[in-house]
Amino acid sequence: MGQRFDCVVIGVGGMGSSTVYNLAKRGQKVLGLEKFDIPHAEGSSHGVNRIIRLAYYEHPSYVPLLRRAYELWAEIETLAGEQLLFKTGSIDTAPAGHEVFEGSLESCLLHDIPHEVLDHDEINNRFPGYQMPAGHMGLLQADGGFVLSERSIVAYVNAALEIGAEIHARESVLSWEPEGSGVRVLTNRAEYFANRLVITAGAWAAGLVPELRELAVPERQVLAWLQPSEPALFTPQTFPVFNAYFEEGRYYGFPVFGIPGFKIGRYHHLEEIIDPDQQRAEVNSADEEILRVAAARYFPKANGTLMTMKTCMFTNTPDDHFIIDVLPDYPQVSIGTGFSGHGFKFASVIGEILGDLAMDGETKHHINLLTLDRF
Ligand SMILES: Cc1cc2nc3c(=O)[nH]c(=O)nc-3n(C[C@H](O)[C@H](O)[C@H](O)COP(=O)(O)OP(=O)(O)OC[C@H]3O[C@@H](n4cnc5c(N)ncnc54)[C@H](O)[C@@H]3O)c2cc1C
Repeated sequence: MGQRFDCVVIGVGGMGSSTVYNLAKRGQKVLGLEKFDIPHAEGSSHGVNRIIRLAYYEHPSYVPLLRRAYELWAEIETLAGEQLLFKTGSIDTAPAGHEVFEGSLESCLLHDIPHEVLDHDEINNRFPGYQMPAGHMGLLQADGGFVLSERSIVAYVNAALEIGAEIHARESVLSWEPEGSGVRVLTNRAEYFANRLVITAGAWAAGLVPELRELAVPERQVLAWLQPSEPALFTPQTFPVFNAYFEEGRYYGFPVFGIPGFKIGRYHHLEEIIDPDQQRAEVNSADEEILRVAAARYFPKANGTLMTMKTCMFTNTPDDHFIIDVLPDYPQVSIGTGFSGHGFKFASVIGEILGDLAMDGETKHHINLLTLDRF
């Protein structure tokens, strides 16, 4: 007879670590199961840091969630005794009229978020690491910056363990099935029973919930860290993180932090849909080239020697909004996946929401945009 828990969480990555902590905080007997190490570099949450920004062109209704996410990042920083969120300011930039700029502006106006609008000359003069082309507009928001992703997972796991959660690394969930009003979970090591199940399996979610096959699709991404020729222009004090639409695509980047090099990525890199179990960790010259194209043209003083390249995975939904819900046929099972390349900044509040859904079947947070019935 397997061990019994109030709640089992499958996947202890960005979202799962925060969920395990939130459930333990509410007095639940919770088990987190992770198939790799904690943390690891096989999923979606590695590579030092992730951008956080309040100016949210993706949809203004994310802003209240972001405000709560900032509060909860501060809470876990206090518990961990470690700074996890660094404010560098964020710049959303695109040609005037493009949604990346206009949508960010709209979300600031709608939610009364302090911001500055800069034209390309103003961006380049104020932040000489940038070389924005004529016609580009930028929205500068002072609360933007980055969150340390692996360190956040470590912080949540330590905080959860401290208050009694049980967490097992290198234990892979093979299957789950309803059992009365609860669930039975089978792993490569044991079987467990729980009243509630939360699935935060990232790119592997569809392997555990087949209905997600077309709705949470893994995509290969690549990040590069390039050594600047003028490092002083690319420090957290001198270089705001960016989310930028150029004619070559939508790119994002960070000042030098944690490991050598200015970090740059391209949303939907080479548009490669992949099987998460066949992820290619190796990178090639095409990967480097598409990132260098933007570095050379728009951040030329950062386009130096290659320091690091890493692959990673997005899990995309058809509309690029997250999936956070209770499964319609199994109210004892909640899911958080499909974070479509912009989820990490929310991990602190997603844990709170998934905790609500697991315990109460509902949440006070407004997640109408994110539920399954929209598909
Ligand atoms: C290159 C890149 C850049 C990004 N940039 C940003 C950014 O700047 N800002 C931002 O907010 N977001 C960004 N994102 C998105 C963000 O990182 C993801 O949305 C977030 O990390 C997803 O977290 P997750 O918990 O869903 O996935 P993960 O952290 O991958 O966690 C899922 C976990 O489930 C485990 N698992 C899966 N199946 C099983 C099983 N059967 N049994 C046990 N364990 C299992 C996996 O091993 C994994 O640890 C980026 C993503 C990438 C790839």
